[in-house]
Amino acid sequence: MILFFGTRPGKIEVKQLLNIACPFCNQTGTLKISKTSNWFHFFWIKIFRISSNTISECSHCKRVYFEEEFTEDMKNEI
Ligand SMILES: [Zn+2]
Repeated sequence: MILFFGTRPGKIEVKQLLNIACPFCNQTGTLKISKTSNWFHFFWIKIFRISSNTISECSHCKRVYFEEEFTEDMKNEI
């Protein structure tokens, strides 16, 4: 009997931060939050979440912020 299990990525959630200014270029409304997560699955049924990653990208200066670099304002908006 073959067992199918492993990890697979969950869906990506994207959220635009309309009222937050980019700490690098000071443009407002250019930051976008992307949330990804990895799931442990068994026969393609999601069992539990292993890890999740949240990053933010500015569409103006293209700077990427990782979760530990988020400002207090950005954290409050998530
Ligand atoms: Zn920027």
